[in-house]
Amino acid sequence: TGTVETLEFQSEARQLLQLMIHSIYSNKDIFLRELVSNASDALDKLRLETYRDKDLRAETDNLHIEILLDSEARTLTVRDNGIGMSRDDVVNLIGTIAKSGTADFLRKLKESKESAGQDLIGQFGVGFYSSFMVAGKVTLVTRRAGADEGVRWESAGEGTYTIESLSDAPQGTSVTLHLKPADDEDHLYDYTSPWKVREIVKRYSDFITWPVQMAKEVKEGEESGLETVNSMKALWARSKDEVSDEEYHEFYKHISHDWTDPLETVRMQAEGTFEYQALLFLPSRAPVDLFMRDAKRGVQLYVKRVFIMDDCEALMPNYLRFVKGVVDAADLSLNVSREILQQDRQIRAIRRRLEKKILSTVKTMMTEDAEKYATFWQEFGRAVKEGLIDDPENREQILEISSFDSTHHADKPTSLRDYVSRMKEGQEHIYYLTGDSRTVIENSPHLEAFRAKGYEVLILTDPVDEMWTESATGFDGKTFQSVAKGEVDLGDETTDEKKAEYEDLLKWMSATLSDTVKEVRLSSRLTTSPSCIVGDAGDLTPTLEKMYRAMGQ
Ligand code: ADP
Ligand code: MG
Repeated sequence: TGTVETLEFQSEARQLLQLMIHSIYSNKDIFLRELVSNASDALDKLRLETYRDKDLRAETDNLHIEILLDSEARTLTVRDNGIGMSRDDVVNLIGTIAKSGTADFLRKLKESKESAGQDLIGQFGVGFYSSFMVAGKVTLVTRRAGADEGVRWESAGEGTYTIESLSDAPQGTSVTLHLKPADDEDHLYDYTSPWKVREIVKRYSDFITWPVQMAKEVKEGEESGLETVNSMKALWARSKDEVSDEEYHEFYKHISHDWTDPLETVRMQAEGTFEYQALLFLPSRAPVDLFMRDAKRGVQLYVKRVFIMDDCEALMPNYLRFVKGVVDAADLSLNVSREILQQDRQIRAIRRRLEKKILSTVKTMMTEDAEKYATFWQEFGRAVKEGLIDDPENREQILEISSFDSTHHADKPTSLRDYVSRMKEGQEHIYYLTGDSRTVIENSPHLEAFRAKGYEVLILTDPVDEMWTESATGFDGKTFQSVAKGEVDLGDETTDEKKAEYEDLLKWMSATLSDTVKEVRLSSRLTTSPSCIVGDAGDLTPTLEKMYRAMGQ
């Protein structure tokens, strides 16, 4: 045993710990899910590493998770004999938070009201620190598989922790919580009660693929020992009618760290050349980092029940980065790396099928459950529309599941299908106008003639709308046409008589404004405004121009 060092938590970690200690999170039970999930990850990692590194001096017998309770000492310990951590690991992984978006998350949390704060925490995934919701002090003892020395870490969560080397420690990690006094008379929150803990494990961690063991409940004369509490069945490998919605939902929460039920559960089973099983989820709300550049994305990859990696981005196109879930492929090598996956033919084939399946699921949702679809679009529409640019191959299907604000309804977006069905006799195009906000667009003189004729115009206010409309070819045989660009042919030509009448005025205006405009012409697109500025058909819109300028181009 070496000397005891006292170190400080990184400042963001400190803030998060404060939140845990003065817990604003009502469901404290989830700390156990987090610890069991970490232990399960550690066992996954050990198994994978021993596959990859045959020389690793690791113990691989009897891999399991154990929960020990001591009601006298008021402690709860979660122990695994998995990969463990080195001293540096402990300092870097436990003493700091490397998650992307932490600063942003903390800022939002500060600004939010209490209940919204709970929502945010649920989405962010609190991990190991959730121990401090129920513990006044946490002791962690760990030894990295193959290493000689172990490490002991301890903290009350208040700014600092201590760390020391141990000459003797079992492989893996044990986390001991010194529980705060039970804060209710019924001891509902007594986490040293075996039935209580068993119930939490069953509820949150039943599908963990490693045995979670606890001391047997013994009657007089029976021998004591351990028993496995969870069923360990990989949900995606079980037949559909064997699994309840509840179980799917808990599994979703386990892999996503979300605490609300998913909006939709998607199951896929493929046999033949590319054999795989997939269990995917559409969350019911967007994660805080949906639009952050370095946000994690992608689903979990397993190969024949062996966990390979989190956030496998090769399996999901970027515009569907919010989809969570598991893909278990049968014929991949356990040694696959991210680089190899990007090139792999089989992975690309699977990705195409997952993508199509998600699109068709949303399409079904659109017709069968409008409310659900509205939630989906509200939360993820902006991301999905990126697919209109990134993925020309599926553009038609993506347009099919998209909806847009329009002049037809003040606060209900419309699908393009519905737009097309309302098109007026003689209307050839799908008209749209892009701009900063609905109000700006609605007050635009460009709309006047369309309004007068009863033509519906899509109101596009997301920056991404500027981009995809540039390259979109059309929908259902109709082309997209900006009402702010080129000559809009609304059928009523300006007569020669009128042209003659205004000739002098137009000449004078063209000359006077020659520095700022290319041409001044009579138009049928206005009803009450005397004039408006339009772009050429190939021009950038004002917003795009602004965007390019901001990017220095
Ligand atoms: P997350 O699991 O989302 O990464 P956590 O806060 O739960 O976040 O854990 C932080 C990190 O600490 C983990 O990523 C892992 O590297 C390490 N860790 C936590 N618990 C264990 C454990 N039982 N065994 C090995 N490493 C662990
Ligand atoms: Mg974790």
